[in-house]
Amino acid sequence: MDLNTPIEAVPRIGPSYAQKLKKLGLKTVQDLFFYFPRRYEDLSHITKVNQVQEKQKVCLKGKILEINNQPIFRRHLTLTEALFQDETGSLKVIWFNQPYLAEGLLNQEVYLAGRIKQGKEGIYLSGPVQEKVKDGFPPTHLARLVPIYPETKGLTSRWLRYVINSLLPIRKQLKDTLPPEIRKKHKLSSLSLAIDAIHFPQSLAKAEKARARFSFEELFLLQLQALRLKMKNASQPASAIPIDIPLVQKFVQSLDFQLTPSQKKASWQILKDLTESRPMSRLLEGDVASGKTVVAAMAILNTTKAKHQVALMAPTSVLAHQHFQTFSKLFKGFRVRIGLLTNEASRLNSRNISPEELLEKLKEGKIDFLIGTHSLIQDRVQFKNLALVVIDEQHRFGVRQRAKLRKISGQNIVPHFLVATATPIPRTLALTLYGDLDISLLTEIPANRWPIKTKIIDPGQRSATYQFIRKEIKAGHRAFVVCPRIESEDEEVKTAKAEYKKLSQDIFPEFKVGLLHGRLKAGEKEKTIRSFQANRINILVSTSVIEVGIDIAQATVMMIEGAERFGLAQLHQLRGRVGRSQYQSYCFLLTDSSSVTANRRLKALVKCQDGFELAEKDLKLRGPGDIYGTSQWGLPDLAMANLGNLPLIEKTRQAAKDLLNKDPNLVDFPLLKQKLKHLQQKAYLE
Ligand code: ADP
Ligand code: MG
Repeated sequence: MDLNTPIEAVPRIGPSYAQKLKKLGLKTVQDLFFYFPRRYEDLSHITKVNQVQEKQKVCLKGKILEINNQPIFRRHLTLTEALFQDETGSLKVIWFNQPYLAEGLLNQEVYLAGRIKQGKEGIYLSGPVQEKVKDGFPPTHLARLVPIYPETKGLTSRWLRYVINSLLPIRKQLKDTLPPEIRKKHKLSSLSLAIDAIHFPQSLAKAEKARARFSFEELFLLQLQALRLKMKNASQPASAIPIDIPLVQKFVQSLDFQLTPSQKKASWQILKDLTESRPMSRLLEGDVASGKTVVAAMAILNTTKAKHQVALMAPTSVLAHQHFQTFSKLFKGFRVRIGLLTNEASRLNSRNISPEELLEKLKEGKIDFLIGTHSLIQDRVQFKNLALVVIDEQHRFGVRQRAKLRKISGQNIVPHFLVATATPIPRTLALTLYGDLDISLLTEIPANRWPIKTKIIDPGQRSATYQFIRKEIKAGHRAFVVCPRIESEDEEVKTAKAEYKKLSQDIFPEFKVGLLHGRLKAGEKEKTIRSFQANRINILVSTSVIEVGIDIAQATVMMIEGAERFGLAQLHQLRGRVGRSQYQSYCFLLTDSSSVTANRRLKALVKCQDGFELAEKDLKLRGPGDIYGTSQWGLPDLAMANLGNLPLIEKTRQAAKDLLNKDPNLVDFPLLKQKLKHLQQKAYLE
C-alpha cells in the first residue's frame, strides 16, 4: 500500500465505507491524511478510582474483573454491569444495549471514559467509551488528545481515527512541498511530523503548530499562484497608450466638480499603467458613490483619443444603459463614438442602429467605445484594436474570460484591464483572492456629501415615515422603497408587488409610483429607471435589483422593508443609492424582527457609513464564505479560515515573492510547480 492506493483497496475500509469517503472527496490514502480533525477532546488525564467524584467526566485505566448481561424486560433493554479495578480501588460500570461488550472485555486491561453518576448503591461509571490496552502501543480513542473529525452520516470519528491511525506509517512517503529554507525561516514543522501531530497530537500546542504549518502552506500556494499569474500577465505585450496631458486637463475642467485627492491619484496610477507595453491589471476599489466612473472615464477618453478602442462591461443591462447615458454626457464635446450593445438595444451615440451594423462598425474601428453587459465577450463581437477593458461592479473575471478578450481584441494582444468595484474588499481578501491585481483605492467620498441619516423604524412609526417621504417628494426629491421579494406566499414578507399596489393606491395617490423587479420584460426595466431619473416616477418600489451602480442624484430616501432579511454589505449597497449629491439623504430600515443578530447588523449600519469598516464587521459576523461568495472559490479549508489573518497573509506573500525572485520558473521546486498546476486546474474548472 502507498499514498496513491485507492481507498477501496485498503483492507479495513470496504465498499460501503469507500462510498461514504468518496462523497467527501476522499479517494486515496493520501487524501485521508489531509482530512483534518476539527477539534480535539482532551482525555489525556487518567483519574484514579479513589479520586473520582459524582458528575465528573473521567478517563480511567484498569482491569475488568467481572462483566454480566441482564435483560430488563419491562423496558426492552439489556443492562451490562461490570466491575472495574485499578490499583486504588474498584468501581461499578454500567452500559445499556451493548451486550456484545461482555464477551470481549472480561479480564481485559482497558481504558474507560465516561461520566460518574450516583446510583442507589453508590457511584458508578455510566455508559463509558472503552478501548483495550495494547502493550507497546499508545491508545487511539482514549487517554490522549482525541481527534474529532467533521462527521457525516455513517462515518464516525471513532472509525476515522481507527483507519487513519492504522495507515499513518505510510505518511512517511509524503514529499514535503514546502522548501526547507522556508520551513526553517518560519519555524514550520515538516510535513510528516505535521500530519502525525494534526491527527494524534501529544499536546494542543503541537496540534496548533501542525495547523499553523498547513495554514501557511495553503496561503503560500495561493500567493505563489497569484504572483505567477501576475508575472505571466506582465510578460505579454499590450498597446502602450501615451498620456495626452492637455486632453486630460480639458476633461477635468469640463466637470462641474473638483476631483478628490484619491480620484486624482487613482487616475494618475491608471494613466501611467497604460503607457506601459504590458497589460495593466488593476482593481479600482472605492466605497459606494466615491466616484469611480470619472476615474475610469479619464483612462477611457485618453485611450480612444490615442486611436484605440475601449470596452466597458456592466453586470446588468440597466447599469449598461445608465453608463451609456453618463458617458455620453461626460464625453460631450470630445467627439467619442460610443456604442451600446445589450440584449434589448443597440445604439451609436444618439441613434438606434441594428446590432449587425454596430458590430460591423466596431470591426472597422468606427466605434471608439463600446458599452454592454457580459454579452460583449462572444465570438461575433470583434474589435479592430481593443486596448482597454473596464469591468464595472463585477469582481470575478477569470483567466478564461481574459483569454477570450485577447481573441476578440482584433490584434491578438491582451488589453489593459481595469475592474471597478464598490464591494469593499478587506485588505486580506484583496491580497489573496485578487492577489494578481494592483489596487487603486478611493479613500474619500466627494466633499459635497452629507452623511446619510440612517434609522431603524419599528411598525409604530410607519405612517410618520410615509409623511416624511411625502415632504421629500414635494421638495422635488425621489424615494426608493426596496422589498425583499417580488411576490410571496408568506404573508409576513413584504413584496414589491403588494407594496406597489398599496403605495400607489392608498398611501400616495397624489404621486407617481413605479415598480421595478427582475422579472420585468426586456426594455421595461430601463424605461422604468429612465422615468425615475426624469422624475416621471417619484417613488420607485423595487427589489434588490437596484443594488449596484444606479446613480440618481435627486434620490434622497431609501426605505428598506424587511431590512433584517438583507446582509450587511447588501444594505450598505442599497443605502448607497441615495446620498449621491449635495442633498441630505435618509435611509429607513423597517423591521419587526426581534432577532439579535439581525438587529446587531442594522445597528452597525446606523452607526457606520464606511463600507470598509462595515465589510470588516461583516467578515467577523459571518465569515468570508457568505459575503464574497468565497465558498464558491474552492479554497482549501485552512486558507478559508485564515482569510482574515492579515499578518499571516503578508508573511506568505513575502515568502512567495522571495522565492519567485530567486527562481521565477520554480525550476528547483518541481513539487511546488506540480502542486500549483493541480490547484490551477481545480480553480479553472468552475
Ligand atoms: P461609484 O463610485 O459608486 O461608481 P459614481 O462614479 O457613480 O460612484 O459617482 C457618484 C456620483 O458622484 C456621480 O453623480 C458623480 O458625478 C459624482 N461625483 C463623482 N466624483 C465627484 C466629486 N469629486 N465631487 C462631486 N461629485 C462627484
Ligand atoms: Mg459605479
